[in-house]
Amino acid sequence: MRRMTIDEHVIADAVAMERQRILRDHRHYLDWLGIETPCARCGGSGRYVYGSASTWRRGVGGCAMTTDVCDRCWGSGDANHPWTNLREREASEKKRIEERAADLFARRLGARINTLRPAMEAIALELDRLSRGRKERPYHFADSCEMLAKLLRALAKGERVDPSQGE
Ligand SMILES: [Zn+2]
Repeated sequence: MRRMTIDEHVIADAVAMERQRILRDHRHYLDWLGIETPCARCGGSGRYVYGSASTWRRGVGGCAMTTDVCDRCWGSGDANHPWTNLREREASEKKRIEERAADLFARRLGARINTLRPAMEAIALELDRLSRGRKERPYHFADSCEMLAKLLRALAKGERVDPSQGE
């Protein structure tokens, strides 16, 4: 193995010292935030660079590296003390909205959601049939029929549906 030149030794020492300084500053930063065990995903910053603009929401998103809250520690930076799981919170919020929507839909019709289920399924079938029809319709008619059918079925079953997502 070739021996390092004096210049290479100087550079290697400077790199090692800089590395030590960065690690020390990082430890000070973590101490300052009260983080004992930094999150392995974000290193304790609480932020993470995602490969698409959908970030922690997943699914379809623009193809741009996007920094957002870390989806392992949820912003705390601490592996042992994660903050609120935004993915779970968003899912429960959507479920709550859909349950409320189903209830309001039924109330508006003067019925209970349980008694409406068969009718909603029948209407969904009609919407499916309409979406495949050959009659000339406005642009997005078929898509709208399909989405309404999907929503009706979801409301009837009390299932979660995300209209922004495909099948
Ligand atoms: Zn993290």
